Amino acid sequence: MVKRIGVLTSGGDAPGMNAAIRAVTRVALNSGLEVFGVYNGYKGMVEGYIEPLTKAAVGDIIDRGGTILGSARLPEFKDESVRLKAVEQLHKRGIEAIVVIGGDGSYRGAQALTDMGINCIGLPGTIDNDITSTDYTIGFDTALMTIVDAVDKLRDTSSSHHRCSVVEVMGNRCGDLAIWAGIACGAEIVCTSETGFEETEILERLRDLDVIRKKRHAIVIISEKMTDVHQFARKISLNTGFSGRATVLGHVQRGGSPTPSDRVLASRMGEKAVDLLMQGIGGQCVGIKDNRIISTPIEEALNIPRASRKQLQNLFDRLV
Ligand code: ADP
Repeated sequence: MVKRIGVLTSGGDAPGMNAAIRAVTRVALNSGLEVFGVYNGYKGMVEGYIEPLTKAAVGDIIDRGGTILGSARLPEFKDESVRLKAVEQLHKRGIEAIVVIGGDGSYRGAQALTDMGINCIGLPGTIDNDITSTDYTIGFDTALMTIVDAVDKLRDTSSSHHRCSVVEVMGNRCGDLAIWAGIACGAEIVCTSETGFEETEILERLRDLDVIRKKRHAIVIISEKMTDVHQFARKISLNTGFSGRATVLGHVQRGGSPTPSDRVLASRMGEKAVDLLMQGIGGQCVGIKDNRIISTPIEEALNIPRASRKQLQNLFDRLV
């Protein structure tokens, strides 16, 4: 049976990664395994920046955003010769298996390592909720909370000045943060890759909200990479009765103390990852479906199409 495992965080960081590191470490130690932290993702693996983790080392981190292990991107990890160096570093220390906390790209690295004899399990750590093998990713709920908090504040000041606030949120081409936030914030308009961005139509709707509905403010939530929100805000000022203001929330969405939901999700998923490795299983990623913790082969997971959010969008439309 596997005796020594490693854990790393890779790609973009997300609140709740620390809770996952803690869960993997504590569950593994309590199961009689030894645990090593691999620092700075695959980069640290190649460089041999690998240290033992104790129960105490992962104490006092469940409430902290970011990742105590650090994260990094190493595009060269796609080269087998680079991965061989990583495998050598693991062999030197007797580390037989790894839990990889990250997004799709990190899963690809995990599969490649599994193919080279190091069993890897992926945990979905990203605020974007863009991993299709799980209903929710670790960090999504916290990022949503941050967005809702910011938009609630923007609404206060927008109503005082008859403004239309255009808020750009993250999502990496996945509209979940935008549509969930739209519903939770009672926004007037949401634009995602699924709804598209029809500028003329949106301006028309804003004019209606101003003239017919006599709204004192309007909130438009837009997924990143859809349009230049600053330019669009200027068009709102020119073409509607609202004064348009753009806010790009940016990296604040990645920070903050994880919500209880993210902490519990990370803990449940961390436990599952260790259980799979103890059964000698690799090349799988953990997810949550209908509130059950599941695992899916990584190769299959990477090919699952994104579920349509039509129902949520319909609900959104009926709430305006
Ligand atoms: P995320 O995991 O958040 O999607 P990236 O796409 O940047 O973030 O991937 C994180 C890291 O995973 C990359 O920097 C690289 O080291 C590794 N990786 C990505 N794609 C592959 C691949 N096809 N093969 C091996 N490693 C990969």
